[in-house]
Amino acid sequence: MSAEKYLVGAARCESYDPREVELALSLALRKAGARLPEGGEVLIKTNMLAPSAPDKAVTTHPEILRAISRETIKKGNSVHIADNPGYIFSDKNNLLNATGVGALASDSIKTGILSDLGVRGIRRDSFRVLEEARISSRYLDAAFVINAAKLKTHVETEVSCCIKNIFGTADTATRKKCHSSRSQSVLAEAITDLFIIRPPEFNVVDAVLAMEGDGPSYGKPRKTGWILAGANALAVDWAASTIMCYGNPLKIPLMKAAASRGIGPKDKSQIELAGAAWEDLPSVGFKKSTSLLRLFPTFLRGWAHSFVTLRPELKTEECIRCGICGRVCPVDAIKCPPGEYPAINRPSCVKCLCCHEMCPTGAMAVGRNLLASLAGRQHRPSR
Ligand code: SF4
Ligand code: SF4
Repeated sequence: MSAEKYLVGAARCESYDPREVELALSLALRKAGARLPEGGEVLIKTNMLAPSAPDKAVTTHPEILRAISRETIKKGNSVHIADNPGYIFSDKNNLLNATGVGALASDSIKTGILSDLGVRGIRRDSFRVLEEARISSRYLDAAFVINAAKLKTHVETEVSCCIKNIFGTADTATRKKCHSSRSQSVLAEAITDLFIIRPPEFNVVDAVLAMEGDGPSYGKPRKTGWILAGANALAVDWAASTIMCYGNPLKIPLMKAAASRGIGPKDKSQIELAGAAWEDLPSVGFKKSTSLLRLFPTFLRGWAHSFVTLRPELKTEECIRCGICGRVCPVDAIKCPPGEYPAINRPSCVKCLCCHEMCPTGAMAVGRNLLASLAGRQHRPSR
């Protein structure tokens, strides 16, 4: 590898058969030139967004985590697998059991919630959006972090992979702050503020079963059959967005924001893909999110937000009046008086769809705007 190139390893993996995953993961690490530490504790920052079964493709698959752990333990390390779940999932046992992560626990592997040792406030002059970010102390203090991301579409950031996965290291208040703007670009810069605090030492992407459509929670699983790996998160995300057929990754606001901070490649020629050819990666017919924002140039997206983004729509017949939507809304646009249905203050709503993501019954559905309807796209919640 020439000095200025970012190395990304790619390996085909058609299923979550443990032996196949082990071999593919080992190959991807080797192709990526992985240098794992020896004799310490390694934090595997997984994606454990919700208590969702592995076949829903919401979370990093436990067989991927098992294979990463195995490679890490071979070097004499112990492993801690952890994440902060979505705002409302406070039942740790349910989360660990449903995602299959809890079953990985052993003498050498601990599993748990990332912020169970508390959070620390971080301020950086280089922040472009946030004044302060409150980040898991366990993550900040880890000697070596492997970022184990799931490849998913995302209704706001378009791609959820390595850089977006680090969003989960922040506490609820910080994540709400990031979501509180109408601008997709501001969210992208805020997530990048979080990422630069403490970039992971290594990244692995579970793209065996990805998510297409309206991710990160309500899209559909889509078999893509790859494991990606590399030391540079932006370079790995570049390859991941190629699998999703996103064209020029620098048109995705999150990747553009990350590239503008100088944390990775600014051009495909700066990436060396090992184990596959670029033309082998794309998954034909991969469905992107319903949001049409990506059709607009970045500088028009703030204006276009009102016309082309999805908005929450309450289906009262499915609402159990639990009030969760009101608690997760980052801008307090939902009022939920006890025992009553929630009421959305439309002018205040920034259409982040956090209420939709976290509603336990699907009662907070998404409504299509006129342009999305004209585009003939459909939103079909998958769980
Ligand atoms: S819309 Fe969903 S989250 Fe909100 S009160 Fe009803 S059931 Fe609860
Ligand atoms: S009402 Fe829902 S979509 Fe609107 S800002 Fe609040 S959480 Fe986001």
